[in-house]
Amino acid sequence: MSLTPEQTSEIHAARAQSQQTRRATVPALEEMLFTALPVLDHGFVRVVDYMGDDAAVVQAARVSYGRGTRKTSEDEGLIRYLMRHWHSTPFEMCEIKYHVKLPIFVARQWIRHRTANVNEYSARYSIMDKEFYIPAPEHLAAQSAENRQGRGAVLEGEDAVRVLGLLRQDAEQTYAHYEEMLDEDGPGLARELARMNLTLNTYTQWYWKTDLHNLFHFLRLRADRHAQYEIRVYAEAMLETVKAWVPLSYAAFTDYRLGAVTLSAKMLEVLRRMLAGEVLEQPASGLSKREWTEMMAALGR
Ligand SMILES: Cc1cc2nc3c(=O)[nH]c(=O)nc-3n(C[C@H](O)[C@H](O)[C@H](O)COP(=O)(O)OP(=O)(O)OC[C@H]3O[C@@H](n4cnc5c(N)ncnc54)[C@H](O)[C@@H]3O)c2cc1C
Repeated sequence: MSLTPEQTSEIHAARAQSQQTRRATVPALEEMLFTALPVLDHGFVRVVDYMGDDAAVVQAARVSYGRGTRKTSEDEGLIRYLMRHWHSTPFEMCEIKYHVKLPIFVARQWIRHRTANVNEYSARYSIMDKEFYIPAPEHLAAQSAENRQGRGAVLEGEDAVRVLGLLRQDAEQTYAHYEEMLDEDGPGLARELARMNLTLNTYTQWYWKTDLHNLFHFLRLRADRHAQYEIRVYAEAMLETVKAWVPLSYAAFTDYRLGAVTLSAKMLEVLRRMLAGEVLEQPASGLSKREWTEMMAALGR
């Protein structure tokens, strides 16, 4: 992660200030506020603001006049009930705003989550920084043979060296052309046009604000092992902020969403038959081979 000395001192200045408020604040998240959590080689995610806490979820669910807290154990029970039964609107009462620095190809996946408010760094107005994501050698993997959307074995030896060289060289070269085209003593091409041939591993930045319900939806999809590593690591860093912010909701989320498995009606029937002692194999199960494999993997069999 590379923050300039000016950016670092802006963060320190912001962290040195404090305001009095009657609103709920969360000490563990206040501790993290404004601090950049490093992700990938030059990226980061940092919380710049938030509204609400676990009690706000409870307060909204009960539509109460006070802060909503009776006893922590009651709040916990209610939050778990809401999560278990997909009663989502109380979670929408909490909001969080992040500043994220991420490669353009990760941003392209991320922006598909439409239920957030986004403002991206303008490459029409400003010049893009010369920063590219280059995977660490252990993340430079070959195409998976089994999964068309995944990675297989890590590249080694000459192949790894050649690929890393190509990634660096292409990014450097297109950035050099970008600068050449922008040159005011040369063509002076408009920034909005010159940016078009930058490589997708160039870093961009945005402010990204969402509510807790939609954040959980994002995290469920992007902290999942099926998500691409480069977006998953952002989701994992954000999970740490959520854990600090709303520990009860976070615990319910990890239990009922992140760690949970959905069984179809057919799968449930298979499970019932197995529990009744029937020795069942895939052909007689009524499940496709893939469903069967996924279900057995979920059951650890
Ligand atoms: C592992 C993985 C692989 C993927 N592969 C591909 C791929 O190959 N190609 C591809 O194009 N995308 C792919 N995606 C993106 C995926 O299809 C979704 O676009 C993305 O995950 C955002 O999900 P979402 O729409 O539920 O989120 P959000 O946009 O945040 O929406 C949240 C929920 O709000 C509702 N909603 C939001 N907007 C609308 C609307 N306009 N109309 C109706 N309901 C709405 C829906 O219920 C939605 O689930 C992939 C995602 C993952 C996690």
